[in-house]
Amino acid sequence: MPDEAATTDPLRRIERPTETHDREAPKLPPSACWDESPLPADASFALCLTHDVDRPYKGLRSLFYVLQERPGYHLRTALSGANPYWQFDEIRDLEADLGVRSAFYFLNEQHLLAERPVRDWLSPTNWVQHLGRYDVRSPAINEAIGELAAGGWEVGLHGSFHSAENRDRLREEKNVLEDVLIEERDANRTEFGDEAPTTVAGGRQHYLRCSIPETWRHHRAIGLEYDASLGSGTRVGFHHGYRPIRPFGDDFRVFPLTAMEQALPDPEAEPEAARLTCEELLLEAAANEAVMTVLWHPRYFNEREFPGYRWLYRWLVERAQELGAWIGTPRALIEAFDGKDDGTDRQPMTVAERRVDPDQIG
Ligand SMILES: [Zn+2]
Repeated sequence: MPDEAATTDPLRRIERPTETHDREAPKLPPSACWDESPLPADASFALCLTHDVDRPYKGLRSLFYVLQERPGYHLRTALSGANPYWQFDEIRDLEADLGVRSAFYFLNEQHLLAERPVRDWLSPTNWVQHLGRYDVRSPAINEAIGELAAGGWEVGLHGSFHSAENRDRLREEKNVLEDVLIEERDANRTEFGDEAPTTVAGGRQHYLRCSIPETWRHHRAIGLEYDASLGSGTRVGFHHGYRPIRPFGDDFRVFPLTAMEQALPDPEAEPEAARLTCEELLLEAAANEAVMTVLWHPRYFNEREFPGYRWLYRWLVERAQELGAWIGTPRALIEAFDGKDDGTDRQPMTVAERRVDPDQIG
């Protein structure tokens, strides 16, 4: 029910838009409001591109897959030293070709044996996860981080599993990532340029694991400007509204996740359904001046292991460009939002107008 104040206040209180339709609606603090900042460059909507770097090495996980499916192929990749999950160069080339930039969120998972309690060692699930663990301080990862930052990509934090409830751990992970950025800048000053940030502005929690609003308080307390964990790995849509949320009524933003690749129809088995689902999301975004955020894990860009997902990503970005979207990273969007004065004559939409009809999403 919009009232006079609600339609003129650029930071309108959120009138619980999700509770009606969404059984999993988070308990937002009473101070929560929408970010109604005008979109940059008169864009029809904004598309934020993000990648969670969970497992850049297939490595020993191949041996696990050997036991499950396609043993010949997985055994060959395990023994050959080929690394089908290392997709940094491919994604950079693809996005540079499209003229866009994205955010890569790096994970600094704790070492199972060195940093976790003994009881955790007994869980097979923990071992499977541990086999894919990477060291964010390794030279190859550091080089990848440096190349991304130097090229205008955002380097952000993929908060580890236990960090959602551990502010100190979260701070340490942020500090380590910023140390890498500073070291890479110092080692490659000419390529890095003066523009590339050496700070981490935000990111997403591993497995979208987030205690609301406590994890956001941790993010804010350690100096992050945003979180992109609010969403689902199993369904797509604007279930948390069309705009970033300011949960505390201040400058800290939450970017709801509109679509994770795994939640879309399989683009190999059902290419038309996958494309149409993306098309519907893009049109809904354009109709509502929305900020749409998508997540493609880097390993999904390997066409052999995840056929169709690279094609679908390219199609999504090109279609968003056709529709007049601003496309970029959450950090760049926040900078654009904060760089504008708010003397705009644009009337913000009412909550009722921008409310999602779940029947249209399917
Ligand atoms: Zn993750």
